[in-house]
Amino acid sequence: MSRRRFIVQGCSALGATALPCPWLGAADSSFDPWVEVHAENLRHNVRVVSRRAGARPILAVAKNNGYGLGVVNVGRAFEPLPEVAGLAVVKLAEAISLRDAGVKKPILLLGPLEASELQEALARGITPMVYTAMGDELERAAKGLGRPVAIQICVDTGIGRVGVAHREAAALIQDLASRRSVRVDGVLMTFAEDPEFDKEQLRRFLDLTDALTKKGLKLGRRHAASSFALFQHEDSFLDMVRPGMALYGIYSEAKFRTLGILDLRPAVALRCRVAYVKQLRAGDSAGYERAYRAKQDVWVATLPVGHADGLPRVAAKGARVRIGDAAYPIVASVSASHTIVEIGGEPRVRIGDVATLFDWKEGSRPEDLAAACGASVYDLAMHLNPLLPRRVV
Ligand SMILES: *Cc1c(COP(=O)(O)O)cnc(C)c1O
Repeated sequence: MSRRRFIVQGCSALGATALPCPWLGAADSSFDPWVEVHAENLRHNVRVVSRRAGARPILAVAKNNGYGLGVVNVGRAFEPLPEVAGLAVVKLAEAISLRDAGVKKPILLLGPLEASELQEALARGITPMVYTAMGDELERAAKGLGRPVAIQICVDTGIGRVGVAHREAAALIQDLASRRSVRVDGVLMTFAEDPEFDKEQLRRFLDLTDALTKKGLKLGRRHAASSFALFQHEDSFLDMVRPGMALYGIYSEAKFRTLGILDLRPAVALRCRVAYVKQLRAGDSAGYERAYRAKQDVWVATLPVGHADGLPRVAAKGARVRIGDAAYPIVASVSASHTIVEIGGEPRVRIGDVATLFDWKEGSRPEDLAAACGASVYDLAMHLNPLLPRRVV
């Protein structure tokens, strides 16, 4: 068992109330910041997304280390849920670690592959996303495996990234779908998330795939809807929805929070313990470039968390940290591994107290931290350092 897996399992066994985690046998310090994963909130979000999608299957996007929660943690949480038809990741290593962790559901690999990597992906039952003329390559791989290979085909209907251009897609899809050793499990597209243009994109996608289906081609499930579309485009749910952020309980845009369409509950927290508490005298400064000046005598706490852990540098521009029952402002600057918090006239916190950068409580949700300092919630979740210990609670 890897050291990291030992920590995740060992600490989850302790439950949510046993803070701080003693990291028995591990080299992590109990002062390292850690990420908490709320398994029940993950399940709740899957249920509400499923309801919103009219019980269509969910392809759960778990790229970039499961949006910070740990790709194996989310893979294991989704594995037993019937609403989740499969998982999607960008990097081959993530797909392989899901398989190694015992995830049996279909895994769609959204990232590009070399021929040699294609072999390995297919051998592990990982479905590549295809958008180039690689039919011969797929047939060779199928021959090597002694069975047909499953693929999904990505069509670019206007976002301009990967995907075969919609004008040229019919020929490619016909070529791939007509090969006996290739099975097309799905065709997908991505919206530019421009409410008007999205409608045109969807029209292009439907025109293309309807015409091919009429010709008798089997295209598997058509899917397009990310978290944005769950709120914005009910007509794009098609055969399956493909959200990421919503499953982790985070509203991707502030305006979605008040719509009442989805009751999302954050499934991720970032916490650490107060490393040091000291009093500054009036006129003292703190932080690089003396970014903070004490106007009067004031107590400050140092948190052992910084931008190298994933806390955005801009958090010093208005974000607050909860310690005990109170929220305190981050001041000065966020450095690589240290953050300074202004406590006030009295030393109301102690070394070792748990500090919450964000969690699932109203007022300290990831969206609240992002809004307070102008950060993107995507940056917040996806920049959480993969080396931080993860605890499933
Ligand atoms: C990241 C991603 C998604 C999920 O996006 P969210 O905004 O997190 O819901 C869906 N599809 C593709 C192709 C993606 O890369």
